[in-house]
Amino acid sequence: MSDVQTVQGPVDADELGLVLVHEHVRFRDEAVAAEWPDRYDEQAELDAAVEAVDAAKARGVQTVVDPTAMFGGRDVLFMKRVAEQTGVRIVACTGIYSYDYLPHYFENRDVDVMAEHFIADIERGIQGTEIRAAFLKCAADAAGVTEHVEKIHRAVARASVQTGAPIMAHSMPAVGTGPRQVEIFKEEGVDLARVQIAHCGDTDDVAYIERLIEQGVYVGLDRYGLEMFLAIEKRNATAAELLRRGHAERLMISQDYCATIDWFPPEAAEMFQSQGAIRHWSMTLVFDEVVPALREQGVMDDETFHTVFTENPKRWLTA
Ligand SMILES: [Zn+2]
Repeated sequence: MSDVQTVQGPVDADELGLVLVHEHVRFRDEAVAAEWPDRYDEQAELDAAVEAVDAAKARGVQTVVDPTAMFGGRDVLFMKRVAEQTGVRIVACTGIYSYDYLPHYFENRDVDVMAEHFIADIERGIQGTEIRAAFLKCAADAAGVTEHVEKIHRAVARASVQTGAPIMAHSMPAVGTGPRQVEIFKEEGVDLARVQIAHCGDTDDVAYIERLIEQGVYVGLDRYGLEMFLAIEKRNATAAELLRRGHAERLMISQDYCATIDWFPPEAAEMFQSQGAIRHWSMTLVFDEVVPALREQGVMDDETFHTVFTENPKRWLTA
């Protein structure tokens, strides 16, 4: 079994243990944060991240995969501080998290040049450190697979083909981006067994998810607690049905929790809570409510739990 890159350095894949495959220790706009740093409280952000990861650790989590890429304020030294303070491994990525916008810098350079940037993060290190990216990230959302989104997908795909690094693609089932995203990866010759289509759990259309699984990719049921997209009960019914149909080896269960996120003013968090847009969103929800509910339905025994939370992330991260 090969090594996996973490912010603490390479680790034997067998040592990853219990994995949360999609969580953010911090999510913010790096441009706003660079221009108006006094609007951010770095200590409060660190405290929130440590608290969230510590809570996950108390549920047995040994590794957190953090797919924060460009435009999410990726900061591997911040991740390293969280990892060091909690003793939980954090796996970092490279890539661009954009629903359409591209800086002129990348707009006026071709796909292969973009791919070179990702490859440097994978092979040499990120942001002047020796911390290397373990996987690639791209995104398609409400705008669909726009020209820029396609360019990022192709660059991510080429970097994957060249380095063997796996891919995580943010998707939006409501507008059905998944199949086109998979198609692009296929066109670029990516090994689809190394691809994870995130946020498939935002729909309860089991047939849609199953069609993606049939292509050989992993699907993320990874936004537990974000009721604005789908309620926990519906997410659980979808997960249970996919498990009943024998897809345990293709499922990734997580929360897409952000220990802090700058998308909304502070008062919005309470509003979301009171309006029911989020419910018990945390880095422990899947262990506190989801796994028990799936166990009750008889679809999550110890072996399935091990498959979903340990074997699947390990298999996805290693060639
Ligand atoms: Zn995310």
